Amino acid sequence: MADRYDLVVVGGGPGGYTAAIRAAQLGMQTAVVERDRLGGVCGNWGCIPSKAIIRSADVYDRAKRGEKLGIVAGSLSFDYAKIVAHSRGAADRVARGVKSLMKKNAITVIAGEGRLNARGQLVVGTDVVDAERILLATGSGERVLPGLEPAPPQVVTSRELLEETTLPGSVVIVGGGAIGVEFGYVFSSLGVKVTIVELEAQLLPGTDETIAKELERVFSRRGIEIRTKTGYRSIDKTSDGVVLHVEKDGQVEEIRAERCVVAVGRRARVEELGLTGAGVSTERGLITINDRFETSVPHVLAIGDLVDSPQLAHVAAAEGIAAVEIVAGRRPPGRLDPLRIPGCVYCHPEVATIGLSEAAARERGYDVKVGTFPYRALGRAVASDEMEGVVKLVTEARYGEILGCHVIGGSATDIIAEAAMTMGLEGTVWDLGGTVHAHPTFAEGVMEAALAATGEGVNA
Ligand code: FAD
Repeated sequence: MADRYDLVVVGGGPGGYTAAIRAAQLGMQTAVVERDRLGGVCGNWGCIPSKAIIRSADVYDRAKRGEKLGIVAGSLSFDYAKIVAHSRGAADRVARGVKSLMKKNAITVIAGEGRLNARGQLVVGTDVVDAERILLATGSGERVLPGLEPAPPQVVTSRELLEETTLPGSVVIVGGGAIGVEFGYVFSSLGVKVTIVELEAQLLPGTDETIAKELERVFSRRGIEIRTKTGYRSIDKTSDGVVLHVEKDGQVEEIRAERCVVAVGRRARVEELGLTGAGVSTERGLITINDRFETSVPHVLAIGDLVDSPQLAHVAAAEGIAAVEIVAGRRPPGRLDPLRIPGCVYCHPEVATIGLSEAAARERGYDVKVGTFPYRALGRAVASDEMEGVVKLVTEARYGEILGCHVIGGSATDIIAEAAMTMGLEGTVWDLGGTVHAHPTFAEGVMEAALAATGEGVNA
């Protein structure tokens, strides 16, 4: 342990460890305090293990439906305990990878729980860690509603679910956001009867309506029951599962299932950090920061799920880099532009979106031109039998600015990077439509949607 650090980061998730590496690269003497496992929620209990389980479900699902492609799988089955074991293995690998990155960059890892004292110093156990700056990156935990506190195996959040090695016959998922939708896809692919309850009018609230409606159509066809505009009221646990009481249009209904998955969002971990005593302000459960990522106590910075920005791993990492580079004088102050942040959902078909939805663009008064292109008209989608889906570009009529890009379909989570890049470089709809794309690729859908927006479409 050094006598004094330039920067001590609290939390070794994607925000914290990335910030630490960038700080070390910029010559700062850096330490990371982590109370659990390096890699954070993303590596251990979020992005990576959930995508590993999704991958297994996807392979099984594709094999089941493979006959059209000439694949005869015979008596197909799966071993859910092994699926979970593979997922835990992926998480372990990420944690080991982050550990070796800490070593490679000469970053001190301090095992323990960090909190601020009244003097604004960081304390781990009984030790004060002397540092010029403290970067808080302790992320978030599962939000629960009264009565829906985890009680495995009947009532679980994603945290318990990622370790649960048995599959129920039926599941009711409270919350139709990204996590609810991803687990809904996993369960339904593996033959579990799924009901998703969502308070808002559509799955993936806030997502462009065309995309959300297409997802609901595909999910319904798979047999997933979707109950939108439906609120959770209470739950009864029975010997063989749960009875969920929900309300729609003033009518209370019952949904019976063997398991209830609670996926109603994340709650920033602000309580245990000693913030009030140290004078660090919060607002609506999040730490308030300025455009230098400084809290109300200027030597204490905060990033990631703790602050008011999309709760995503790539946001946490990008904020970590930005915060440290601002400290080092390597970039001017400034927060990330939320309209330049892609958001992805890894169900099948995948969903990926960036920027304004069509409705939001119209609300802001833009002269909107929309271009859409259906997957069924894409050669690659036809060849791959992945014809469900659509690419939708929301553009501004006069200057061709890309205001938003919304995709549901094969490889959506990869091809969204093309829209992100174009928007970042302030490219136009003509740039996108005029770029020669390899054929046959899913990315051609973005080019075709751009051509559709300018009225120059060829293939649809
Ligand atoms: P975290 O990853 O939460 O890391 C915080 C770390 O701080 C943890 O390791 C914790 O142990 C540690 N810590 C907490 N308190 C203390 C303390 N007092 N002292 C020391 N250490 C402490 N995002 C995506 O972008 N893509 C996805 O596909 C995706 N999938 C997800 C799936 C699920 C099931 C879940 C739950 C989340 C998913 N997310 C996804 C969200 C993503 O995981 C978070 O946005 C991201 O992990 C936030 O990063 P962070 O660095 O802010 O905090």
